[in-house]
Amino acid sequence: MRAWSSPVVPPLSVRGPVVRVHDTATGQLAATDPQGAARMYVCGITPYDATHMGHAATYVGFDLLNRAWRNAGHEVTYVQNVTDVDDPLLERAAKVHVDWVELAERETELFRTDMEALRILAPDQYVGAVESIPLVIALIERLQEAGVVYEVEGDLYFSVTADPAFGQVSGWDRETMLKIFPERGGDPDRAGKRDPLDCVLWLAERPGEPSWDSPWGKGRPGWHIECTAIALEHLGTSFDVQGGGSDLVFPHHEMCAAEAQVAEAGTRFAQAYVHAGMVAYDGEKMSKSRGNLVFVSALRMSDVDPMAIRLVLLAHHYRSDWEWTDDQLWDAVDRVAQWRKALALGAGAPAAPVVENVLAALADDLDAPRALAHVQDWVDATLGTTGLADTSDDEAGATVMQLLDAALGLRL
Ligand code: ZN
Repeated sequence: MRAWSSPVVPPLSVRGPVVRVHDTATGQLAATDPQGAARMYVCGITPYDATHMGHAATYVGFDLLNRAWRNAGHEVTYVQNVTDVDDPLLERAAKVHVDWVELAERETELFRTDMEALRILAPDQYVGAVESIPLVIALIERLQEAGVVYEVEGDLYFSVTADPAFGQVSGWDRETMLKIFPERGGDPDRAGKRDPLDCVLWLAERPGEPSWDSPWGKGRPGWHIECTAIALEHLGTSFDVQGGGSDLVFPHHEMCAAEAQVAEAGTRFAQAYVHAGMVAYDGEKMSKSRGNLVFVSALRMSDVDPMAIRLVLLAHHYRSDWEWTDDQLWDAVDRVAQWRKALALGAGAPAAPVVENVLAALADDLDAPRALAHVQDWVDATLGTTGLADTSDDEAGATVMQLLDAALGLRL
């Protein structure tokens, strides 16, 4: 599938430090140690509705990781999927009487334009579930050979306990898993399952739903196996970071890891599991079901500068849960104007310390709020010291502009 167009990232003359990120599996910061290119998989959208601020916050968060690695001197191989066939998409298409393929294509295209506007680096591989069905079938066959697949009324299930490390990603006890599983697409109570937590690999054809040929008859892939198959194909095992929103910790990332680790004889799926916080609006987590969504595209269409939207997202640490308010957006619009004014002066307060501090903050678990505070200090000093030759750096404006672009994705 076609990705979106990546912005050009200016090279920095200073190299950033080793990047550390919070690993959900250990609950601790982990120094990333990419062997060759850094490899990252971030779960993509199910394209049944426009990109809301919760999605945007997640993808901006992982964009910071992508940029921090590049600024530390690594190449990055980035893979993202599009769940372009799944229950929510089919349900939505039926409800609004639109062909599901048309709906998926339209919303995926809107997502691309939102990502471009927010200056998020595009994945090297942007892969749809539908185009990956042969990969999914091949992976299920490997799991069958390992003896961990069984059938319930034509649907295929994966025995989660076949992976001795099952539970490692979330660290949750069984009781918590059983409580959350049905809230996030699981079916613990289905008769015929060997373990309530077992997950679907292949769904047999349902009336009125799309289906594809397989060795088990017509059907379609389950959600988790889609990401497992795409990640293994394009990144291999033990890649550096598996990422997504914190609502993907369980069951999605737990199941992906278990499936991969059984198929790959116990080899670790990802080195670290990194999760972005949830964004609320009107007091509750932003979600389609609650209808409390703020869309990136709607703001863009009302002529809001995408860099102001990005600045609001950067003002919150990627792991924190926070609430979107319009006041934050208007503050960011003012801040963008003030920063542009400082940058346009050309000369300014010395740039070297701000470069060092911003790169250090971002390498320290992508601490964008701390990075922004350093930039603000430079802006304040620059606007306050205009004309003071003894504290002035003639190239400061250009240097800080490149820094904002390369490290924070802000082109001002
Ligand atoms: Zn995924």
